[in-house]
Amino acid sequence: MRVVAIVAAGGRGARLGAGVPKQLLTIGGESILRRSVRLFAEHARVDEVVVVLPPDLAADVPADLAVPGKPLTVVAGGARRQDSVRNGFDAVRGRADIVVVHDAARPFASADLISRTIDAAVESGAALAALAASDTVKLAGAAGGTGPIVVERTVPRDRVFLAQTPQAFRADVLAAAIDAGRGDAVATDEAALAEAAGFPVRIVAGEPTNLKITTMTDLRTAEAIAGRDRASARMRVGTGYDLHRLVEGRPLVLGGVTVPSGKGLAGHSDADVLAHAITDAVLGAVARGDIGRHFPDTDPQWEGASSMAMLAHAVALSGEAGFDIVNVDAVVIAERPKLAPHLEAIRASLAGVLGVETSRVSVKGKTNEGVDAIGRGDAMAVHAVVLVAERG
Ligand code: MG
Repeated sequence: MRVVAIVAAGGRGARLGAGVPKQLLTIGGESILRRSVRLFAEHARVDEVVVVLPPDLAADVPADLAVPGKPLTVVAGGARRQDSVRNGFDAVRGRADIVVVHDAARPFASADLISRTIDAAVESGAALAALAASDTVKLAGAAGGTGPIVVERTVPRDRVFLAQTPQAFRADVLAAAIDAGRGDAVATDEAALAEAAGFPVRIVAGEPTNLKITTMTDLRTAEAIAGRDRASARMRVGTGYDLHRLVEGRPLVLGGVTVPSGKGLAGHSDADVLAHAITDAVLGAVARGDIGRHFPDTDPQWEGASSMAMLAHAVALSGEAGFDIVNVDAVVIAERPKLAPHLEAIRASLAGVLGVETSRVSVKGKTNEGVDAIGRGDAMAVHAVVLVAERG
């Protein structure tokens, strides 16, 4: 089954009032047009993409439009939307089983929504993404034909759906719909033409984020959506764990702070179990191995070095990889001593080395309820999670 996508960008978006055609405005540094084309160029179910542009743009196709590995044809649009889609369809007639039509002004349709629309069209012949109305719907008109707008009646909301794109059609259904659109009637979407041609059109659940960019407010909302996507794409998380035995005659050092205690941690250097777990979490977040690889017991450089110096080195490595620490959360599991009086000092000490505000460093104390070696007071363990964000 061959699926062709037609990205309709035949208009210029006069309502947006910007100096450039709407489809060439950028969101997060990428044009609305390229974002919308990529939805299909990168979709596993779509075999070919046709982009319909205003004739002047079609003659001078934006250089960044092509996506490697998938045929892409640019076609000049017509006077009306239905004429533009007809031109696009004419370019692939005979080699498409399913045609997906999408507004270039909707750059946030998900791959899942596209798949569901294709599936529904395969089953039913025609399908569109549409959002169930959540507000109460009023049918209204000018009073007496010329007066103020007044409500005529309240429409049952459960039967009202707001049409989006993608809309998908079996090729024979779209051909008949396009024929139905050759007359004077102006359709605002292809589903309306399919309805007019007598085909049942199935509704698939649309997405609130599948925004149509029409106004400057929409453009700002789109920037916010794209910014959120970029922010999450730049995040990395790392986890760390460490355990040391508690023995007599050693100081207890946690996060670089010496805590008064009958027992201290056994191990190399100051055996700061909290610093070690956080160091491993930092290295894990940037996939740079672990504490044993960077600070082997046998390396004289780290002989006797404080664990906070190792943590500082791990933070520097993550910085070299282009990441800043966002926040840290750690759980120290120990039967004694009580850590609560020392947590503020420990957090401040860690924050200094991590290069973040103390409010971004959380350290929580926990006992093991007397269970196992930790519960007997023979050992102390730490779990830590670190979030880092790519700079820029
Ligand atoms: Mg350790």
